[in-house]
Amino acid sequence: MKEKITPYLKKLLEQPEIYNQYVDRSIIPNTNYTDPLNEDEHEVVKGLVHKYDNRALIKVSYQCAAHCRFCTRIRQIGDPKGTLNDDNIEAIVQYLIANPHIDDMILSGGDPLYTPLVTEKLLRRLREIDSVKILRIGSRLALQSPQSIYAAPVKRLLELIDETGKQKPFFLLLHINSPKELTAEVEDAISYLRSLKVTLLSQTVFLKNVNDNFDTLYELYQKLYHMGVIPYYLYHCDAVDGLEDFAVDLQKEMDIAKKLHQTLSGIACPRFVIDVENGYGKIPVPLDFIDHANGTICDFKNDLISIEKALT
Ligand SMILES: *Cc1c(COP(=O)(O)O)cnc(C)c1O
Ligand code: SF4
Repeated sequence: MKEKITPYLKKLLEQPEIYNQYVDRSIIPNTNYTDPLNEDEHEVVKGLVHKYDNRALIKVSYQCAAHCRFCTRIRQIGDPKGTLNDDNIEAIVQYLIANPHIDDMILSGGDPLYTPLVTEKLLRRLREIDSVKILRIGSRLALQSPQSIYAAPVKRLLELIDETGKQKPFFLLLHINSPKELTAEVEDAISYLRSLKVTLLSQTVFLKNVNDNFDTLYELYQKLYHMGVIPYYLYHCDAVDGLEDFAVDLQKEMDIAKKLHQTLSGIACPRFVIDVENGYGKIPVPLDFIDHANGTICDFKNDLISIEKALT
């Protein structure tokens, strides 16, 4: 993966929360980055990762407006070979028709909004498949280049999404790691996305020196909630070889996640998960609010009180 950044993000590089996500200081050229989630093994058809029985993920391309240094798919990002062609799309559609128990499709990549023409072609086919009940798109375009949301090809795709959202539930999943990413331009772009017939969700990765503290994440989730975005997942950073400097201590993350639960509305609080290596999948990280050994429960002031007392 090569360093790539948008002119918009360049203006924000004085902020360490942005700089640390995008500027390459430690990436060693020719490192063979690993595939910690075993996605390649589950790629049943070019671009289609079928890992969970009833839902599947499509990598529309390996292209994004900017390259995040911590990307789980750093081994692929920027490679032009990832872009789906018409034959690939046809093969995906045939696989989905042959496997009607797959009812939930996630378009990812790469960033599906960064290649709007390919995504439009794919979406026009997917939405016609009766067994596909749910559509989702994961994107960072609004955060990396907010003005691009209004560019003609993206706008046409967003109009198609709006129309599709009237037929089937459609989720737009924005990847946001820091409240510093929510500038006035980004807020405008998100407010435009909110006018579409979609549900806006967000996902966040715990990153050292970007968001590994309670105050930052509390501010992020309050802001997102105020903007009508529902925080979905908060991930422990995947164990890609070469990206160890981003990983936060799991116990520290658990303490932060616990405090978020105690202070945020349930709607504003994401699920803290870890994507287990070797293809097992996402599992919730247990937050021990209840200490069975001592018969105590954590109350909202973070004091321990007796379980019996709490439940009566
Ligand atoms: C995360 C993921 C999904 C979707 O999982 P949900 O828990 O339904 O959001 C589907 N396929 C793959 C390969 C994934 O990594
Ligand atoms: S936008 Fe998403 S897919 Fe692209 S480099 Fe960043 S994290 Fe990876």
